[in-house]
Amino acid sequence: MSKAHKHVLAKNTDVHVEVARRFAQHGQRYSSKRRAIVSMLETSDRPLTISEILQLSKKFNDANNAIVQSSLYRNLVVLEEVGAVQKVVSTDDNGRYELNEEILGHHHHLLCSECGDVRDVVIPEHLEKKLDNELGRIAKRSGFKLGQHRLDLIGRCQKCA
Ligand SMILES: [Zn+2]
Ligand SMILES: [Zn+2]
Repeated sequence: MSKAHKHVLAKNTDVHVEVARRFAQHGQRYSSKRRAIVSMLETSDRPLTISEILQLSKKFNDANNAIVQSSLYRNLVVLEEVGAVQKVVSTDDNGRYELNEEILGHHHHLLCSECGDVRDVVIPEHLEKKLDNELGRIAKRSGFKLGQHRLDLIGRCQKCA
């Protein structure tokens, strides 16, 4: 697990407890497959594509327990519905998934414009405060009350630089 994730996850020591609570709220079952998906996302230091989740699932489970693609799609839909997981849009056509920001903690993404790779990045707290103040002021000028912000850093990753 990356330093960044340790930092933001400190507030939520047990991700599964929080995810289970969301499943219960929606009257859905937090099955072992869904748990496995959440664990993979939790231990990753970046959002994962469908094929990366499938590969990881094969690596850590025997053939009987590995997740098949159709089941992964269905489970990701439910995980999104209950607010456990969110989709991340990058510069390519691959959908990527990460834990909901309320669970994972506020952070931003580095997007590679060449290969679509996505990395998590945490902006120092004092800068986040400055950003919220300034963006809040800009939003207010349009009669808009700022709730939260999203900000992507787009460029080229180490491999593509
Ligand atoms: Zn790249
Ligand atoms: Zn921010």
